[in-house]
Amino acid sequence: MEIYKFGGASVKDAAGIRNLAQIVENTNQEPLVVVVSAMGKTTNQLEKIHSAYDAGSQDNALLELQQLERYHFDVLNQLIEGDDQAAAHSKLNAIFQELKTYLTSLIDTHFDKTYDKIVSYGEVLSTTIVSLYLNHIKCSNTLLDMRQLLITDNQYRDANINYDESARRIKASVSNCTTPIIIVQGFIGGTIDNQPTTLGREGSDYTAAMLANILDAKRVTIWKDVPGVLNADPKLFDNTVHIPEMTYSEAVELAFSGAQIIHPKTIRPLENKGIALFVKPFTDPQNAGTVIKRQIAKPINVPVYIVRKNQVLLTIRPKDFSFVLESTLPKLFTIIEQNKLKVSLIQSSAITISVSVDNSRNLFAAIEQLQKDYQVSYNDGLTLLTVRGTTPQIIKEVEQDKEILLKQTTRRTIKLLYR
Ligand code: ASP
Ligand code: MG
Repeated sequence: MEIYKFGGASVKDAAGIRNLAQIVENTNQEPLVVVVSAMGKTTNQLEKIHSAYDAGSQDNALLELQQLERYHFDVLNQLIEGDDQAAAHSKLNAIFQELKTYLTSLIDTHFDKTYDKIVSYGEVLSTTIVSLYLNHIKCSNTLLDMRQLLITDNQYRDANINYDESARRIKASVSNCTTPIIIVQGFIGGTIDNQPTTLGREGSDYTAAMLANILDAKRVTIWKDVPGVLNADPKLFDNTVHIPEMTYSEAVELAFSGAQIIHPKTIRPLENKGIALFVKPFTDPQNAGTVIKRQIAKPINVPVYIVRKNQVLLTIRPKDFSFVLESTLPKLFTIIEQNKLKVSLIQSSAITISVSVDNSRNLFAAIEQLQKDYQVSYNDGLTLLTVRGTTPQIIKEVEQDKEILLKQTTRRTIKLLYR
């Protein structure tokens, strides 16, 4: 058993899906579970549709949906011609119809819940197209619906997986499959009473890791549009270096610092069972890529640069000048947890705590709550740069020309929060 995961970029067009099919066909591992994200920027578009729905504007929601409909049918038409096309059309049509019916019903006002209901269609659509295309080229496969199999709690948009129930259902469905290839959606799940949920943006990697854990897979491969893990994002830095192997702990640190390459929750389910994670370029399947595992032959010997954008620095002071760190921290973190803020950095002095968080919808609600007991000021539009394996020379270089609001250094790592 192996798990493959294809992200949105790798299935963004007909060429991408043909490439996926080729990779899948050339794999002689059986069975193979293929986790697929929504195509291209579909999730962003669905978020727009949800915003319109939430604002009570059905017309705008349906208008935005048209664009998505055209895009998916266009890809489908390029992939499937001839006798199979009509049947494929009616499959896809049924899904769009279902979504349209929901969008015009306007019965639900719970923001996070309706988000999951609407946004989960991205993966339903992409996996349907992938499965139909594989059938069309006689690559026999089974399409499963993770909304019924990956069971979560009802913390919509950031749902927690119910491991035992999911394991029971997933093992049963997979062992019932008679085809060598199984197609599933990343990122989405469902509650025990059948409400769709999502695992947080970019959560498909996490789905792949959980499936690997549940099914005791030999390994997981994430197919990406980069040659593997690099020491920096090539979109932001020149002269990037490929990292052939790294440990689970290094991978967690990178993901936590904001490296876009892997979702932070991905590593634990793999580490727990010692399942290796491969990150490979989907345009060059023979390339070794990067392997993440427990023990590696050579430690990383290049500095690694990680950029986390859209940060907000909160500076928190008690109103009465009193400051007991031990009693403030639990309060602070309860509020952070309740508002699902993602913390990237913490620093404290005698009378202030500085916390940098990802900018998010709930930020102002959290600030308001904090303001009951604390004076809170904030700076937004910041970037957090982390350099692991840093040197005095690098520190000098990265500090140049930056308005630095906060700096943290340890022996090997520097973190700069700057504007
Ligand atoms: N489609 C979802 C997103 O764009 C999940 C994923 O790609 O992993 O966030
Ligand atoms: Mg994605």
